Amino acid sequence: MASAVRRHTRKFMSETESTPTPSPAIVPEAAPAATPIAPVVPAAASVSFADFGLAPEILRALTEQGYTHPTPIQEQAIPVVLQGRDVMGAAQTGTGKTAGFSLPIIQLLLAHASSSMSPARHPVRALILTPTRELAVQVAENVKAYAKHTPLRSTVVFGGMDMKPQTVILRGGVEIVIATPGRLLDHIEQKNISLSQVQMLVMDEADRMLDMGFLPDLQRIINL
Ligand code: AMP
Repeated sequence: MASAVRRHTRKFMSETESTPTPSPAIVPEAAPAATPIAPVVPAAASVSFADFGLAPEILRALTEQGYTHPTPIQEQAIPVVLQGRDVMGAAQTGTGKTAGFSLPIIQLLLAHASSSMSPARHPVRALILTPTRELAVQVAENVKAYAKHTPLRSTVVFGGMDMKPQTVILRGGVEIVIATPGRLLDHIEQKNISLSQVQMLVMDEADRMLDMGFLPDLQRIINL
């Protein structure tokens, strides 16, 4: 399954911009600027998570998870995402791709981490889109586990359930949001969430999202 990590600066930070930007074609447009990640390369056992320069809070969480060494996709993706470059990766389920994008995102967001209670100090800075609620929940559990020793907040929003509990959490301020596209748009329409400070966007299982007909929703979200 393919995942794409895009670093957003202009599109997401210029809500007031009057000239509309053209609709990007999600995956094809990302491809030329993105660094391709080969699916299967044997891991060099000598590489450790500490070699990536991850913060001690993250390394501690990884030790608690029982991770000793990065998987091949992590070894290839993490340094590239940490450099702020776009990545498009393809790897089988179970190869550790979630940590491949989550760990560098958490690391990059640590610069903005705040222990303030004010919602304004916890704007949404990273958005992870998934095709299904099951995948959203799974990714959210991983992100929570990796960020547990940091002040960064994360939450998951998906359809088929009451919006109110999700709304309370979103309005309280949260840096990392994992969402299915339709429910995210519902929250945007109700002004429960602002994407004006989003810096990083992940389209997890992007190929499946396109297969499932999410392209119009994805384009709406990206153009916000
Ligand atoms: P994923 O492909 O992201 O769904 O991950 C599959 C499983 O591998 C999950 O249970 C992760 O917790 C686990 N995992 C991810 N990275 C590592 C790692 N470096 N070492 C050991 N297990 C890992």
